[in-house]
Amino acid sequence: MTLPDNIQNKKLRRIAEKVCNNIPVGKEDALYMLTTHDILDLGTIAHHIRTKLHEDIAYYGVNMNLNYTNICELRCPLCAFSCDENDEKAFLLSPDEIEQRIHSAACSGIDEVHIVGGLHPNLTIDYFEQMLRLIKKIKPDMHIVAFTAVEYDYFAKKNKISLEEVFNRLMDAGVEALPGGGAEIFSPRVRDIIAPKKISGSKWLSVMRTAHKMGLKTNATMLYNHVETAEDIVDHLSRIRDLQDETGGFKTFVPLQFHSENTALEVTHTTTGYDDIRIYATSRIFLHNVPHLKALWMYLGEKMAQTLLRFGVDDIGATYNNEKVVHAAGAQTPDFGSETFLKRLIHNAQLIPERTTASYRTLWAGPEKEYV
Ligand code: SF4
Repeated sequence: MTLPDNIQNKKLRRIAEKVCNNIPVGKEDALYMLTTHDILDLGTIAHHIRTKLHEDIAYYGVNMNLNYTNICELRCPLCAFSCDENDEKAFLLSPDEIEQRIHSAACSGIDEVHIVGGLHPNLTIDYFEQMLRLIKKIKPDMHIVAFTAVEYDYFAKKNKISLEEVFNRLMDAGVEALPGGGAEIFSPRVRDIIAPKKISGSKWLSVMRTAHKMGLKTNATMLYNHVETAEDIVDHLSRIRDLQDETGGFKTFVPLQFHSENTALEVTHTTTGYDDIRIYATSRIFLHNVPHLKALWMYLGEKMAQTLLRFGVDDIGATYNNEKVVHAAGAQTPDFGSETFLKRLIHNAQLIPERTTASYRTLWAGPEKEYV
C-alpha cells in the first residue's frame, strides 16, 4: 500500500517515506509532528497506517464501568474522583451492590466490564477474587478488563505477596486484560507535580512487563493537557514503544485528555482541536508496533473523537455505562452512550462499525447501511 503523493510539507514527506519503508520514525520526527500546522498532511500519514492495519473498520464496545471504591490512600493532585475514608462522598461497593449492578447491566446486553478503583487500605485480595468470581457467575462470558498497574502493585504490597501471585490469583478469578491506566506521563518532573505518591513511570512499565510475560494483553494510556511538554510526550511514547518491542503485550494506546475541574491542579489552558489531532496522529505514526489507537469519546467529546477516526484512530471507546472518573473532573459528555449512538458516529465517518471487546474479539459487524 503506497501513501498518496500529495504531501506538501517536506519534513512530513520524509516521515511518510520512512513509514512506507517500514522504518520507525525518530524522536525528532515526533517532536516535529507535535508542533506542525500541516495537520492534513499529518492526517494523511496517520490515516494511511490506520487503513493498512484496519481497512475501513472502526471498533466500539458495549460495556459498563465498575468503580468499586473512591477511597484512596494516594489522593493524587490530578484526581477528582478519590476521597478520604471519612468524606461524605466516600463509597465502597459491597458484594450485594456489585451483584445488583452487574446483573442489571448483563440483562441490558453488555459484553465487558471495566473495573478500576482507589487504593483502599482495608481491602484484601479476597475482596477482588470474590468480585471477579461473582461477575463470572452472573455472566460467564463477560469480558473482564480490570485494575491499573498502580492497583496491582498496591495489591502485592498490601497482601505481602509477589506481583506474579497477584496476577495468577486474579487471572484465575476472571481477569482477561488490563485497561492501562495510571501511566499518566512518565517524566519524573511531571509526575512529582500531578501524582507525587503514585508509582514511578519505570515501575508502571515494569508491572506491565510482568503482566505481558504472564500472557495478559494490556492497554497503555497517556494523560495529556496539564503541565507536560512536547518532549515529555515523546519520551512517554518512546518508552511504550521500547517495551512493546520487548514484549508485544500492548494492544491499544489510549491518550487521555486531562480535565481539571475538582482536582488540586491549577491548569488554565486546554488543548485545541489542532493539539488533539497532533497528539493522536503522532501517536499513530510513532507507535508503529501497537496495533490499536483509541479515542475515548467521553473525554474528548463525540465530535472530536469522530474526527480523529480520520487521523489515525480505529477505536472510539465504548458505551461506559456509569462512568465516574472523568465526570468527577468535569467532563461535559453524557455518562452513557448507546450502541446506536456509537455506530452512528462511526458510520457517519464513512467507516464500518465493529462491536468488540478490549481484546478485539469481534461481536458484531455491519450491515453497513443500517445507521445512515
Ligand atoms: S488517580 Fe488513582 S491512585 Fe491517584 S488518587 Fe485517584 S484513584 Fe487514587
